[in-house]
Amino acid sequence: MYEKYEPVIGLEVHAQMQTKSKMYSTDSAEYGGIPNSHISPVSLGHPGTLPRINKTVVESAIKLGLATHCTLTEENIFARKNYFYADLPKGYQITQDKTPICRNGFITIKDKSGQEKKIGITRIHMEEDAGKSIHDLDPFDTLIDLNRAGVPLLEIVSEPDIQSPEEAYNYLTEIRKLVRYLEICDGNMEEGSLRCDANISVMLKGSKQFGQRTEIKNINSIRNVQRAIEYEIKRQIEAIENGEIITMETRGFDAPSGKTISMRTKEMAHDYRYFPEPDLLPVFVSEKTISEIQKTMPPLPHQLFRKYINEFELSKYDASILTDSKPIALYFEELCTFVSNPKIAANWVMGSIKSYLNENALEIQHFIIKPKTIGQLILLVEEGKVSHSIASQKIFPLLISQPEKKPLQIAQENNWIQESNQDALLDFVNKAISMYPEKVAEYKSGKKGIIGLFMGEVMKLSKGKADPKVANHLIQEILEK
Ligand code: ADP
Ligand code: MG
Repeated sequence: MYEKYEPVIGLEVHAQMQTKSKMYSTDSAEYGGIPNSHISPVSLGHPGTLPRINKTVVESAIKLGLATHCTLTEENIFARKNYFYADLPKGYQITQDKTPICRNGFITIKDKSGQEKKIGITRIHMEEDAGKSIHDLDPFDTLIDLNRAGVPLLEIVSEPDIQSPEEAYNYLTEIRKLVRYLEICDGNMEEGSLRCDANISVMLKGSKQFGQRTEIKNINSIRNVQRAIEYEIKRQIEAIENGEIITMETRGFDAPSGKTISMRTKEMAHDYRYFPEPDLLPVFVSEKTISEIQKTMPPLPHQLFRKYINEFELSKYDASILTDSKPIALYFEELCTFVSNPKIAANWVMGSIKSYLNENALEIQHFIIKPKTIGQLILLVEEGKVSHSIASQKIFPLLISQPEKKPLQIAQENNWIQESNQDALLDFVNKAISMYPEKVAEYKSGKKGIIGLFMGEVMKLSKGKADPKVANHLIQEILEK
């Protein structure tokens, strides 16, 4: 019965901005802190105080709008969204209503078959967060922490273009990557810097008419968004098949059981009585501002991905690993300025470097070997001075403990410079061949694979320093004489 239906999903994402101060005041916007220590008369909404706009948030919104191909709004009017709640000291939230700063954009994600698919962005607007109500600390009372009241948010609303829980997962992963590349939000869902509400409905396959949707609030990880949607799709289909009618409601997600639970029905639509904020002038976003911000934009993951595939001819898999996080991409980019073959650079980053980082739970920002040094190491291999295995298994670990040394110096000090000197090599080769006269006969009778045995001996005799290409060549030459 599930196959008869298709889901329709739209996500609302709140991204907390990484600014020093709050959206409309100079209070610290830092996460955590002793409760109620990042406050002032402005964020407490005392009478007579006036909000002022945090310019960095406007710039961040423009950056995100440019990165998501949005049309930017010239005249940005702020609006009051009125409701009563204990963690909202002013009794209203200053947000944007009719003039969101970004409109009609899209984000490209991968669909089930790995094909690129555009998810429309309806709008992105600027607003402020509310405080935090803490219900589980005191047995009798709800406690309020207003440190978060007034912290800047961007709300990103998608079109109902998402068609499966996996697409929702990919969409959120893409958003998190983008805000991290732009360095406007740390993307940490556990700390609530990125929060997601999922709107879900189901309809008969091929129908043009969307079904009634429910909204699942505040899910705290990307994986849980996927799980919540999976559950909700099944629940709605089963309800419809049982002849029930889906009602507009807000639901919560219970992670341990994987179920969504009704929190409140939305039969009476909220009336927030939006009206233009009288204490703030509109913010004008000029063409000049946009082009100035455009110049400061970092390379974005999808642009780097394209470049790695088209120019560097890397596989899609390699390109996506290298662009997953900005610091990795920047390291790789810098390494490529020292290395002629990006494929070799990619192998080093995804091989030795990533395994070292993983084993030591380190981020690449704290990796002690600079791209330039890795570049020198790669060059040593390319010039035939050391073998790849000496470079990756011997020199690389030593560089980590002696980062002030150059790869060549380490290779020389340890006597690892490869013998490509024909005379020295010839001795080893002759010795190896004289050890196994019967194998020489086998080789001559056609068992060419035997050459591996001689190579092994030459490597042993040379303590791994023989240049394998030259050695191979010499052995063949002698055997075929
Ligand atoms: P609200 O302000 O009540 O949250 P919006 O119109 O802003 O409502 O829509 C919120 C989100 O719901 C958007 O992401 C939109 O794409 C999505 N949405 C709208 N209709 C449906 C539907 N029938 N099924 C699933 N998602 C929907
Ligand atoms: Mg909503």
